[in-house]
Amino acid sequence: MSGRTHTRVRPERTCVGCRERAAKSELLRIVAIEGDCVPDPSGTLPGRGAYVHPAPVCLDLAVRRRAFPRAFRAQGPFGTEALRRAVETVAEQATP
Ligand SMILES: [Zn+2]
Repeated sequence: MSGRTHTRVRPERTCVGCRERAAKSELLRIVAIEGDCVPDPSGTLPGRGAYVHPAPVCLDLAVRRRAFPRAFRAQGPFGTEALRRAVETVAEQATP
């Protein structure tokens, strides 16, 4: 039960891959846990988050730009294998 009305502006975030702004709901939140980039689709994990389109191309860009250490304000490198698998799964489901 939520009595909240949708009068507020839709929250926007910047994709750390392509650097384009998008609605928060269109981006995948990522947090760093013990040196790994962990996808957080429900947006509930604590800590500093980075946002990326759930697309392999944006993930590649983010890795190449070392966007994750910058977003997490921590020394990298961060493992992205689990994240890549998650993004590829989302991308496959999104393609008809
Ligand atoms: Zn993107």
